[in-house]
Amino acid sequence: RPRTGGGVAAEALEAALAAVEDNEQELGRLDAVAGDGDHGQGIVRGLRAAAAAARRSDPGNSAEDAGRALLLAGTALADAAGGASGALYGLLLTEIGGGLAEAGPAPVTAKLLAPAVGAAFDAVCELGGGAVGEKTMLDALAPLRDTLAEHARTGAPPAAAWSAAAAAATDAARATADMPAKRGRAARLGERGLGHADAGATSLALMAQAVAGVLDT
Ligand code: ADP
Ligand code: MG
Ligand code: MG
Repeated sequence: RPRTGGGVAAEALEAALAAVEDNEQELGRLDAVAGDGDHGQGIVRGLRAAAAAARRSDPGNSAEDAGRALLLAGTALADAAGGASGALYGLLLTEIGGGLAEAGPAPVTAKLLAPAVGAAFDAVCELGGGAVGEKTMLDALAPLRDTLAEHARTGAPPAAAWSAAAAAATDAARATADMPAKRGRAARLGERGLGHADAGATSLALMAQAVAGVLDT
């Protein structure tokens, strides 16, 4: 895939933004089943700010460049998006960014991404007080982390490892339709959300799939 010159982090966030823009209505509809219906709008607003911040940082494609851009992007996302998912997605980006930033001028590999995503998962659990099985974005993030780690161990190139991880996240996001909610606003409605996937798990899977297309093959 030809680089557009903004660095790999900016390209990843722009691809993620395009994916959530295409699904803004559907994400709002899913959030409205048991929440307040603002997830599509919130995540589009947040990712617009995040992508702009990453592009302004004018980074290259090394892990430390991508890390620095993601640190700025995560802060911008949290400020712009608001809501539960704004804080959690902002933290997700800053944690992945922090992990990559430590790697210096090395390229972005699956071996670097796997522990960074693992640390981000732990941070999101801690901030939100959540766990897997509660019908949230964590139900998509856990299989993303696990599948990425499996492929990193075999030395897979980043695009292949991330594609497999994004496919696992997508299956898991779909499977949240069968779960009663236990977290966030949706918890008060409990089983009423059965048959509908979680909005945050769905947006996480959409973003993950988009990002696979910008990583090195
Ligand atoms: P808000 O609930 O503030 O309106 P959004 O609608 O943008 O925020 O995001 C809702 C999504 O955030 C949910 O679908 C869920 O995936 C995720 N979420 C909410 N609370 C938590 C939490 N404590 N831990 C993990 N994810 C959460
Ligand atoms: Mg909402
Ligand atoms: Mg809200």
